[in-house]
Parts: sequence; structure tokens; C-alpha cells
Amino acid sequence: MNHASNETYSWSHQLWGDRVSPKFLNDLREAVSQDVIPFAELIDRDDLYPLESVKRLARKGYTSLLLDEQWGGQKASFQECTALFEEASYASAAVGISLITILQAQTIIKLFGAPSLQELVLPQFKQGLITSYALTEANHGSDIRQLDTKAYRVANGWRLQGRKSFITSGSAAEAYIILAQTPVGVSTFFVPAQLPGISTEEGKNASTFGLRNGPHVDLILDEVIVPEDHLIGTEGKGIRQALTTLDFSRTVAGAISIGIARAAFDHALRFAAARKAFDQHVLDFQGIQWYFADMMSHIDAARLLVYEAANALDQHKDIDRWSSQAKLLASQVATRCAEKAIQICGAYGVTENAPLGRYLRDAKAYEIAGGSSEILKNTLGKHLIQFSKKNLATY
Ligand SMILES: Cc1cc2nc3c(=O)[nH]c(=O)nc-3n(C[C@H](O)[C@H](O)[C@H](O)COP(=O)(O)OP(=O)(O)OC[C@H]3O[C@@H](n4cnc5c(N)ncnc54)[C@H](O)[C@@H]3O)c2cc1C
Repeated sequence: MNHASNETYSWSHQLWGDRVSPKFLNDLREAVSQDVIPFAELIDRDDLYPLESVKRLARKGYTSLLLDEQWGGQKASFQECTALFEEASYASAAVGISLITILQAQTIIKLFGAPSLQELVLPQFKQGLITSYALTEANHGSDIRQLDTKAYRVANGWRLQGRKSFITSGSAAEAYIILAQTPVGVSTFFVPAQLPGISTEEGKNASTFGLRNGPHVDLILDEVIVPEDHLIGTEGKGIRQALTTLDFSRTVAGAISIGIARAAFDHALRFAAARKAFDQHVLDFQGIQWYFADMMSHIDAARLLVYEAANALDQHKDIDRWSSQAKLLASQVATRCAEKAIQICGAYGVTENAPLGRYLRDAKAYEIAGGSSEILKNTLGKHLIQFSKKNLATY
């Protein structure tokens, strides 16, 4: 049985239905077939940054979809952006997360950066600029309200000192978004990788079992000086900016999980329709059909939620609620589907030759990366408290 092959991909969309225009999807699927599927297994096996895939997608405009035309973008809708992440991750979640770290940098600069920084950086995405988003430190993961990485004002700019951990795409990034502690709170900086004092290190935790797009490196900042306008937005507003940016990236993280879940489902369906036991196809066993019925319902439900979140971003309303729900449900559905798909495929599901181990590893890692399920539930809890304070006299 072939891996997430073009053969399976050719009928997948008939089962899952289109959420954006046929023209956009046709072009996108052709790009995924040519630029992602051929490299997917190698990227995961050798834990490589998917440079070839990302550069090819960039040349076709997929890393600058959401940007205004003045920055070389296509001013696409967030629904279309979500479709990009779903389809690319059907083939390779590693490519999905490589695109996410680009989207995160682009979003924060677009929303909060000074005009001079926007002019400097935004046109570079069309040229294939690769970026990372560095929040986490050895002692600060979910809780980034206080950071050990520091930034101090110097003449005409800022000096940064510290170390960030688990940095996705860090092995290939040409620039980083860095969260650092400044005298009045946490602040965000744009930091080009070629500046003196920047280095990366492949620490003992850099290699993860899922979402492998090259080592998730440690990033070391040793007296790095950046100009004044490389502070993004207002000093001390870094947490708010990071959380707003996460609302965008959590929605497409949900789309990545849907891509994984669909790939696992399709692989198992192809297997069950071909494999025979007790003189019938495995798909003819009612118990197996029930597995598929559950998986299909869960994928459809999570997919609806992910596109609802994309719609909320397009409409600018309640985005923290929808993006948190989308990532929470989709990541859990992906893990469940990958696990069930393995069960359906029997021994063939467990082999290294099958892609199902990759799907399970990628799906599980996304219950933690980019905001764990527990933190997403906390966000939803806060949303409900705010709602109750505003609307319920009894709270
Ligand atoms: C594959 C991968 C890629 C990553 N890429 C990046 C990246 O590019 N950039 C970056 O900055 N970071 C990155 N990270 C780090 C990631 O964002 C953190 O791992 C994540 O935020 C959780 O932090 P932690 O691992 O330190 O867990 P901790 O914060 O130490 O939490 C440990 C456990 O406690 C739970 N917990 C913590 N606080 C609460 C609470 N208030 N209520 C209930 N439960 C709680 C957590 O959910 C978790 O289950 C990546 C991680 C992975 C696995």
C-alpha cells in the first residue's frame, strides 16, 4: 500500500467536500501533489526542514496568501488560508507547521508592526522568507507572563539576551519573532537571523517524535542589537499580541489536525475496501463500519468547527472562542482517528512502511504544541466567565 499517495489524494476531496472555491482548491491540490506528497515520508524519517516544499509553495504565492497586494500578497480569505493548511497537512503535517511559523510572524507584523518594519519585512514573504515564532523557554512553556530572555533599551534600539527553546522551523529560519522581558512587561521583537550574537543549538530535547520538520532548536541571543522599529507595537503589550496571533495560528493548527485525520481515515478506508478476511472485505464487517462511522462524524464535526473559526477570523468576532475550540477538538479527533485507522489496518497499520505511525505521532504532538488542550480549555473557561459577567445578573 502506498503512503499518502497521489492515488489516495485523487479521490479524498469527493468524500470530504469543498469549503472554498473549486478553482482555488484545484490549484492547491495540484501544488500539494507536486510539491508536498513526494517529500512527505523523507521529511519525517530524516527529521528535515522541508525547504524544497516551502520554497515551491512560496513561489506559487501560498506563503503570502493573506497579505495585501501592496506586499505581494493575494488578500485571500482566512477560509482559503485554512484550506491551504488542511490540504498541505493531508500530505505532511511537517509542511503544515513550517507554514504556520511563517504565518505567525507575518500576522504579528501585519497587525502590530511599525510601518517601516512592515515595509521592510512583508514583501519578503513572497520571496520565500522563512520565519520562526519563539515564545517558549526552558522554564516557561504554557506560562509566558514572565520570561528569562531580557531586552534593554540602548542608543537607537534594543539589546536582547537569553535563550528560547523548542523553536519550530528554527533550523532554517531567516528571521525570528522573539518574546522578551522588558522593564514594563513582556514585549515582542523582530530579529533577523544573520545579526551578530544569534546562534541555534540542537539541545537534547530538539528532536520530537511528532511534527518533525527538523530539530526544534534552542535559539541563543547573546547581546543581539536590533533597531528601534524592530520592537513590534508597544513595549509591554507582547502577551496580548502573542495571544491575538495565536488565535490565527490555532485555527490553522486545527486545519492541520483535520488534514492528518482525513489522511488516516482515507488510508484505512482504502485498506478495508481491498483487504479480505473470512471471505469478505474488511469493510463489510459491521464492527469496522462502526469505526468508520464514528471517525467520519468526528472529522466532519471538527472540520465544521475549524471553518467556523476561520469564518470568525474573516468576520473579526469571538475569535478566541472559536480558534480554541477548533484546535482543541480537531487535535483530539486526529489522535483518535489515527489510532482507529491503525486498528483497522491490523499488522499493516503498525508497520514502518505505513504512514499511520507518522499520523499518530503528529496528531498527538499537536495536543500540546501551540497551546495544550488544558490551556485551550482555560481560555474557553475565561470566555464563559466574561460572557456571564456581561450577560447574567446572577454572576
Ligand atoms: C512539536 C512542538 C513544537 C513546538 N514549537 C514551538 C515553537 O515554534 N515556538 C515556541 O515558542 N514553542 C514551541 N513549542 C513549545 C510549546 O508551545 C509548549 O510545549 C506548550 O506551550 C506547553 O508548554 P510546556 O511543554 O512547557 O508545558 P508546561 O507549561 O510545563 O505544562 C505541563 C502540563 O501542565 C499543563 N498545564 C500548564 N498550565 C496549566 C493550567 N493553568 N491549567 C491546567 N493545566 C496546565 C499543560 O497543559 C501540560 O499538560 C513546541 C512544542 C512542541 C511539542
